[in-house]
Amino acid sequence: MKQNDNSRYSQLDFAFPAAPSLVVLGRDAALEAKAREILTPLGAEELAREVHVEWNARLFSAAGRADSHRNLISLNPRLREHDTAEIDRTLRHELAHLLAQFRAGRRRIPPHGVAWRKACRDLGIADEARCHTLPFPVKQRARRFLYRCSRCGKDFPRVRRLTRAIACFDCCRKFNGGKFDPKARLRLVENDKAP
Ligand SMILES: [Zn+2]
Ligand SMILES: [Zn+2]
Repeated sequence: MKQNDNSRYSQLDFAFPAAPSLVVLGRDAALEAKAREILTPLGAEELAREVHVEWNARLFSAAGRADSHRNLISLNPRLREHDTAEIDRTLRHELAHLLAQFRAGRRRIPPHGVAWRKACRDLGIADEARCHTLPFPVKQRARRFLYRCSRCGKDFPRVRRLTRAIACFDCCRKFNGGKFDPKARLRLVENDKAP
């Protein structure tokens, strides 16, 4: 009669908040090639040779980040939830930071100042906003069901209704040694079912 309830649940029963289902991290050779292609005709061959582009899951609300010391552009993997135009635009926004700093040499320039704006024009995004914030996630827009962790209160938007008992991964890890924690079970708090 006595049976360990935890054994019924696998890792798959844990939920990560609104995370993309498949995330490929690290350097992206295709985007690096594209960055080179964009920079070379602008007289920035040296920068074109050195530029690196990576997907970095440590970016939270920012769509991208540019590190001009390392000539490194980091992109938020959640951009993949959007169309390729969004990825392209973010790539160019961050390239504008590298290009502006490359042209300025050792002189420090303000991040979204005149030099950056000039670089944006050269990169074909003259109307770019001075903001790195991730656009509203597609998955968020499409969600029908909102679940909440009974333990920490974190929200888990879902497109489909959950059919099994699902618990919050962070709480299971924190309070139950990584095993399914019934107290951290997700409960339905909102049902936006479209007509
Ligand atoms: Zn910026
Ligand atoms: Zn939790």
